[in-house]
Amino acid sequence: MDDASLELPVDVMRRMLQTTSARVLDHLAHVGDQHSRGDVGLEADRARCIALRESTPPEEGSALETLLDTFYGLVPKTLTTNGPGYLAYIPGGGIFSAAIADLVADTTNRFTGTWFGAPPLVQLEANALDWLRGMMDMPETTRGLFTTGGSMATFNAIVCAREKLLGERIRDGVLYASTQAHHSIKKSARLAGIAVDRVRALPVDASFRLRVDALETAIAEDRRAGLVPFLVVSSAGTTNTGAVDPLNEVADVAARAGLWHHVDGAYGAFFHACPELRPLLAGLPRADSITLDPHKGLFLPYGTGALLVRDGEDLRRVHSATADYFPGNVTSDMYDPSSYGPDLSRGFPGLRVWLTIKLFGAARLRAAIAEKRALAVDAADRIAEIPGIVMDAPPQLSLFAFHLTWPGASFDEENAATRELMTRISDRGRVLLSGCVIGGASPRSDQAPRQLARVCVLAFRTRQDRIDACVEDVAAAAEEIRRGAQRQ
Ligand SMILES: *Cc1c(COP(=O)(O)O)cnc(C)c1O
Repeated sequence: MDDASLELPVDVMRRMLQTTSARVLDHLAHVGDQHSRGDVGLEADRARCIALRESTPPEEGSALETLLDTFYGLVPKTLTTNGPGYLAYIPGGGIFSAAIADLVADTTNRFTGTWFGAPPLVQLEANALDWLRGMMDMPETTRGLFTTGGSMATFNAIVCAREKLLGERIRDGVLYASTQAHHSIKKSARLAGIAVDRVRALPVDASFRLRVDALETAIAEDRRAGLVPFLVVSSAGTTNTGAVDPLNEVADVAARAGLWHHVDGAYGAFFHACPELRPLLAGLPRADSITLDPHKGLFLPYGTGALLVRDGEDLRRVHSATADYFPGNVTSDMYDPSSYGPDLSRGFPGLRVWLTIKLFGAARLRAAIAEKRALAVDAADRIAEIPGIVMDAPPQLSLFAFHLTWPGASFDEENAATRELMTRISDRGRVLLSGCVIGGASPRSDQAPRQLARVCVLAFRTRQDRIDACVEDVAAAAEEIRRGAQRQ
């Protein structure tokens, strides 16, 4: 045995692939039967993690079977994020085609960080970005970047806007978003050098949408104070309630005031790919930049976000660089990932998107996206009919939020009951819901923060049967809680 060789014989690799594919397929065949929450709980989770701690790497290797046993033994002790009942947070997907793309990308291990490393393969990634651009109806000047997720896409967008509009005056730059904007915006702003005291959280209307009048007032006030308003981030679907900000009106204000308009479409932008749903996101293609999350709206496994920048030069100016060891004459009209993003060496994220769109075809993906919206509308209509359910946020896209009440219930009792509702529904194991607490700057600010339960339909495995189960479980749990409360 040659100890220094890491090459495995072909028949060993063949057996490893067979072993792995058997486990993968067994897992996927049963994903619909798994408890939709998984066997989780704070105390048990902590104890398990402590038991798993291993401070030194093993000196000797182990059999793949043993390692897969370990892994698949742990999977049920996590949220069932790839299951049909995952209606919590913003569901991801885990579409199978992406796993195939990762396998072929990782085994060929071509260098796709630069154009010259693998020109025709980088072209596939450029095509995939161009398809996303087309889905968003952005112009041909647009260039994009695959990122690890929506947060990194937004971070890059903020850097673009900062470089273009602030120059040396970083400390004076002011960024605007609503109180409902994703927390990654504040975090990205800090990473991009924008101080926390320069990030404005603007109030929302009764549908949780950014109030454009408040935006205009805030810009004027900051100008008077000698600051430099430079960026407004609107949401094409918030994580809390799925609210879509008035993108056209925000674009008008941004154009008038000379601000960069970034749209956080991590949850909702892919609904624009369906022509019949475009009115829900009117104004989206006017954005200076858009965050997309193929690992949400295009059903991919986690690890793939994307940024589109309307004037591709704005993105290139931030990132292009050269090195003494690069071959000459590489500046060209060809897409070069390292000239549009911070990474040099990286995986091949474009292949996941390219292979998935090629394999299924765009029409089938659009049909799946449209179906998720239709399922959410159906679920919301039926859940709104359940006695005691108050629909606080009907679906603008595929997410809605509600709370539970009964005659004589106090505000605190409603909040507690809504939390109990989510627990009881999730305990049943067919669907997993998550909640949000909304208060503060909304028009409902006269009230203390309200607990809402939310349903977000975006996982490709969620179909009508699971929505029916969701409606049944909400009805049953609501009935139990109300009966208990009114007996007291
Ligand atoms: C998920 C999400 C993000 C963050 O994206 P990641 O891919 O998790 O980094 C930002 N904004 C919205 C609206 C989201 O739903």
